[in-house]
Amino acid sequence: MIFKRNEHNGSVFHYFEEKNIVMGFTEIDSEAEDIGDYFGIEKIVQLDQVHGNKIYFSNEVKGYPEGDGLILNEKNVMTVIRTADCVPLFFRSIDGQVAGVIHIGWRGLHSKIGINLLETLKEKGTDTKDLLFFTGPAIEGKCYIVQQDVVDKFSDFSFGDKIFEKTPKGYSMEVTRGIELCLIEQGIPEENIKHSGICTFCNKNFPSYRRGDREKRIFNFVMMR
Ligand SMILES: [Zn+2]
Repeated sequence: MIFKRNEHNGSVFHYFEEKNIVMGFTEIDSEAEDIGDYFGIEKIVQLDQVHGNKIYFSNEVKGYPEGDGLILNEKNVMTVIRTADCVPLFFRSIDGQVAGVIHIGWRGLHSKIGINLLETLKEKGTDTKDLLFFTGPAIEGKCYIVQQDVVDKFSDFSFGDKIFEKTPKGYSMEVTRGIELCLIEQGIPEENIKHSGICTFCNKNFPSYRRGDREKRIFNFVMMR
């Protein structure tokens, strides 16, 4: 996966293209409409994100329903998931027939949106071993301190003891690693999961809720051409 960095109408974005699929994410102070304009796509599908586990196929979405995941099943449509510290989890099938992006913070990880994604794709006939995953910019563990209440919520998760580390101010939490462990447990080969390695809290080119950005978001986009 080789990402290109580009600018259009003042919006800065990183993307890669493979077969007929384009995936990417914007830097701070960018607009989803500029990305659509750059790629010549008019229809943008977005959700009212609520940190839950509901996933939609793009052609089912009317308006802005509550949900946190989008599976693209149409050409010339762009699905967008907004994040600022939470993890955008991109996925695509090796044959280029399936793609999308879902939003996962600790609540999404707890409500098992990743497992819901795999189940939803399996129902539609996708062999999940043929899926390739990518986690976009998100807050890294050492910058994301949570308290005992969050740790307790993961006490019955198989990876619950692998994603928290005690720090002087609470516990660092590796949400991205939690997602990876969850996927591996569901049979996804580890080598099929890649990471941007960008921490939104450390890298000021990206908005971070914990750093104080209340309204600004990364637009994580996927389209099929
Ligand atoms: Zn950081």
